[in-house]
Amino acid sequence: MKTVSLEQELNPWEAQAARFDFAAQKLNLEEGLWKILSTPSREIIVHIPVGMDDGRIEVFTGFRVQHSIARGPAKGGVRYSPDVTLDEIRALASWMTWKCAVVNIPFGGAKGGIIVDPKKLSNSELEKLTRRYTAELIEFIGPEKDVAAPDMNTNEQTMAWMMDTYSMHMRQTVTAVVTGKPINIGGSRGRREATGRGVMIVCDEALKKFGMDRESTKIIIQGFGNVGSNAAKLMADAGYKIIGIAEYNGGLYRANGINIDDLLEYRDRNKTIVGFPGADPADPKELLVTECDILIPAATENVITSQNAAQIKAKIICEGANGPTTATADDILADKRVFVIPDILANAGGVTASYFEWVQDRQGYFWTEKVVNEQLDFILRESFADVVRFAETHSVNNRIAAYMLAINRVAHTIRVRGIYA
Ligand code: NAD
Repeated sequence: MKTVSLEQELNPWEAQAARFDFAAQKLNLEEGLWKILSTPSREIIVHIPVGMDDGRIEVFTGFRVQHSIARGPAKGGVRYSPDVTLDEIRALASWMTWKCAVVNIPFGGAKGGIIVDPKKLSNSELEKLTRRYTAELIEFIGPEKDVAAPDMNTNEQTMAWMMDTYSMHMRQTVTAVVTGKPINIGGSRGRREATGRGVMIVCDEALKKFGMDRESTKIIIQGFGNVGSNAAKLMADAGYKIIGIAEYNGGLYRANGINIDDLLEYRDRNKTIVGFPGADPADPKELLVTECDILIPAATENVITSQNAAQIKAKIICEGANGPTTATADDILADKRVFVIPDILANAGGVTASYFEWVQDRQGYFWTEKVVNEQLDFILRESFADVVRFAETHSVNNRIAAYMLAINRVAHTIRVRGIYA
């Protein structure tokens, strides 16, 4: 791949474009399809006025990018963060297109975001912001058009507000407009843990490939939010040894394995993992380059870069987060023969369970958790095998293989539909 500046390296849109171009070239993708798929199909910017608790009016900027609707309604989360950018949302939207295609579910890709630090807003300010954002997007979203879900700093409550606002405008309850809702208003059993469960399933498959067992596999996880904490809990229960956890404000290390139940209890009580007495404090940046078998970045983008990739000691990286590894770092990891399970496969458990939620909402019939977990297990194991087979057949790394598989599926749909004519 070409040499890039650090700024370019850290731009998520450029990062996805670098992988897309490489994979498209390997596939000999026609020029027209290349043009279609390298550009989002729709980008919406909204400016959202909110009456704050102290009587002031603030105006927040929000985005919704629909990258592709070729294979079905656009699908993707909504994140609240002070450093959201349009390029980041574009990248995340296109990753959703590729992710849904990798697991072969009938969705396109989208992503939304609002530039806001949610910690600085009261609950009622957050509710007003969410409802107004939803109202601004009303004609562009819907169960057959674009289905949102939680992402960083949004949760089941955010989805309940979005669902209610959309339903008020439609004059009827429309549960399938968002996924990741509370179970009692149309959410799916098993959705909350699904991304973490998916991370475990693909790690299990990697262990099988390398003849390793769970009990002697040491894991370090970055991020102890929805993805990281659920992966930690499920994997610890399954016998894996979680030796390190890194959060933005501190980390924990224990060579014999951290007791995750105790840590979850501590975090719920203290709202932080820092100070947990069952492990030693550790530098969160150091944890990324500490000796382990599997490193699971499950926090945010751009944490494995040209600056630290050479020092990584993990044999396997399983990307719970979206875009944690830059394209430049990919090359370094490939030289070191690190087995990377790329984000568009590793964290696809979330969108797969979201697909189940959408199906259940439309059926009006709700599955048991056992059925959800079995279906998830089946889809992720198949997808892992598809990606690894593609990598071996085309002599490319897993990430490029996943992109090639996804681009191939989306391109095939567009050719058959003929929507470029
Ligand atoms: P979250 O907000 O629940 O958790 C993120 C955690 O990471 C928080 O605890 C936060 O404090 C921590 N964190 C943030 N920056 C950090 C840093 N630089 N170093 C260490 N810790 C840091 O979010 P989430 O839903 O768990 O999402 C995490 C990642 O997984 C995101 O990239 C998201 O897009 C991706 N993802 C989430 C889902 C899902 O179902 N929630 C599905 C697919 C992908």
